[in-house]
Amino acid sequence: MQFIYLKAQYIKLQSEINRNIQMVFDAADFIMGPQVEELERQLADYVAVKHCLTCANGTDALTLALMAYDVKVGDAVFVPTFTFYATAETVSLRGATPIFVDIELGTYNISCERLREAILYVKTERKLNLKAIIAVDLFGLPADYPQLRHIADEYGLKLIEDGAQGFGGSINGKKACSFGEIATTSFYPAKPLGCYGDGGAVFTDDDELFALMQSYKEHGRGGDKYDNLRVGLNSRLDTLQAAILLPKLKAFQEFELEARNQVAGRYRDGLADCLVVPHIPEGYVSSYAQYSVLLKDGQQRDRVQQKLKEKGIPTMIYYKKSMHQQTVHQGNPSIHFGFPVAEDISKRILNLPIHPYLEEEEQLYIIETIRDFVSR
Ligand SMILES: *Cc1c(COP(=O)(O)O)cnc(C)c1O
Repeated sequence: MQFIYLKAQYIKLQSEINRNIQMVFDAADFIMGPQVEELERQLADYVAVKHCLTCANGTDALTLALMAYDVKVGDAVFVPTFTFYATAETVSLRGATPIFVDIELGTYNISCERLREAILYVKTERKLNLKAIIAVDLFGLPADYPQLRHIADEYGLKLIEDGAQGFGGSINGKKACSFGEIATTSFYPAKPLGCYGDGGAVFTDDDELFALMQSYKEHGRGGDKYDNLRVGLNSRLDTLQAAILLPKLKAFQEFELEARNQVAGRYRDGLADCLVVPHIPEGYVSSYAQYSVLLKDGQQRDRVQQKLKEKGIPTMIYYKKSMHQQTVHQGNPSIHFGFPVAEDISKRILNLPIHPYLEEEEQLYIIETIRDFVSR
């Protein structure tokens, strides 16, 4: 059994993917071939935003967003402490200061209450400039954007959506990657929509931000290719990856997102009475980048993980360490806030296999094995 079974997807989509790859080889159009623009158009349509710009990976996508906002030394950027390192790393790379915020118990996403406290702290201290919030759609579930939008407007903060895990989710029909003034995503193979290597994208409705990010991703170019206006990156999505993503995006829309939700539904039905399953608020849809459950305590979690391993069931722990616990962040000014929810969850969380090709039979075996152990 695989944690994420990419091969099953390839087998299903093989003829279309192979044909698209062959087309790129035949045209030898490896950089910025027509598939890149076609993909950007389809992604923007799916998310229902005006602009999509692909780039080399989800980390660069965040960096492009921060560059477009001129995030720099002296700026405070609020990020959830329970996330993948890149969310905070890109802030530090700009010379700015990530301010860590605890998460909500039910959704694993940034806590708006703790966010307000963190903003007031930074405001009162008057050492850093209130700049931006990066909300993360963790494990596929959009963050609480109605409230986040309100807070961002109240304090004049930019709102960036890190949708690396969130692509495909929605709130009342409005799609993930449309909630921030800039949203980002990743096409790392294990994400809900993955390519066969590294890839990423930014989304925005704003023409000016779009033009800036377009420039920054190409060495800060101006109208002419050899006219450089600013210091930028070299961050492109290969034509090959765009060609691979086109049929994958189609499958994602036609059945994969639904299949992921079916798998999640079976876990919920089979496990909700014996451990904590993810809470999906009313009107929200998750793309289930991960299916995360909480055990009673750390001891039980480690025992269950070991038992599942013995039975051939792979699991993961996202995340063992939050941002405030990383060695690199030990001098961070928000480190003393206290992050009880993130610390509790990182001890108890267990991520179960989830992908659109998980067979019902396999899944019932996983559920039975967990039940057998947890109920004892
Ligand atoms: C994966 C991920 C990223 C980075 O994406 P890459 O394509 O690996 O650079 C950023 N933020 C979150 C929350 C992620 O899960």
